[in-house]
Amino acid sequence: MSGVAALHAGGGPRRRRQAGIDLPRAEEAVRDLLGALGRDTEEHGLADTPRRVAAAYAELLSCEPFELTSFPNDAHYDELVVVRDIPFHSLCMHHLLPFGGVAHVAYLPGERIVGLSKLGRVVERFARDLQLQERLTMQIATCLHEALEPKGVGVVVEAEHLCMSLRGVQKPGARTTTSALLGLMRDDPRTRQEFLSLVTA
Ligand code: ZN
Repeated sequence: MSGVAALHAGGGPRRRRQAGIDLPRAEEAVRDLLGALGRDTEEHGLADTPRRVAAAYAELLSCEPFELTSFPNDAHYDELVVVRDIPFHSLCMHHLLPFGGVAHVAYLPGERIVGLSKLGRVVERFARDLQLQERLTMQIATCLHEALEPKGVGVVVEAEHLCMSLRGVQKPGARTTTSALLGLMRDDPRTRQEFLSLVTA
């Protein structure tokens, strides 16, 4: 096994991943949207808004490429590795409004271990996309499962969605929790219990 799972797509090493983003077209679309919402972009203060909105969305949907480098587990560490409270923000694919909160990520090492900061990078990699919280949770877990081949992976995501707090049911402060458990984290009750008690403590 190579020990490196490439998660970057296109561009040089320092280029942000911006696959498929057409800034001039996005800017024109924001101008159209403002017009359709009855706003005049010639109006003072709105003239530069389409450019700013297009740039903001492009930034929110791009992330620095990185490599999920792993190392041999020479110490034969066989207890849970847990990183709690990894902050993230994302964009809800149903409303294009932000949602954000924290992710707790854990794995039970097999032959390979990974730098702890990389767990945060994996969260960011999938958060900077149009997302559903359930899908985000599953993608983080699946990525680690495939790249590290650990004995188990557990991911819990807690987030507040602006599309729920500002509109619709309007429940500010309501947090949604999702989880994805793979391998022993799902199948072994003791491991699962240990993970859940570590992240909900
Ligand atoms: Zn939404």
